[in-house]
Amino acid sequence: MTDSNTDKLVLELVACDRCKNPFMMPKGEKLRKQENNEEIVCKNCIKLAERKKQLASSVIESQKEIKTSIKEFEDKLQTAETQDTKKIFYEKIKKQSEILTKSVELLKKIEKTNDEKYIEEYKKLFEKLKKEVS
Ligand SMILES: [Zn+2]
Repeated sequence: MTDSNTDKLVLELVACDRCKNPFMMPKGEKLRKQENNEEIVCKNCIKLAERKKQLASSVIESQKEIKTSIKEFEDKLQTAETQDTKKIFYEKIKKQSEILTKSVELLKKIEKTNDEKYIEEYKKLFEKLKKEVS
């Protein structure tokens, strides 16, 4: 008689490799993961990783847009006929570059964070950045 099915219903308390918080896992799963050199990660950390990934890809998407717009302003700057127009485009390029720098910093912060509460904060920062671009 095999009891592998009932085994799955038996839970054991394990510690998450990332946040160190204890959580329940099917018995034997920890050992199996350790043998395969797999990380033991709780649901919260998985959720956090997904949110980080989502936010990071939105930021990267925005960075592409900013780079394109900088390129456009550079072209316009080249063909601008008066000093005044040149100055306008120069200022726009400067502004967009500043936003780009901020977004790079934001991306680093997102990658480093292990706390859910910062994700919300970074989302707001990102929304603010996006408004500055337009
Ligand atoms: Zn965790």
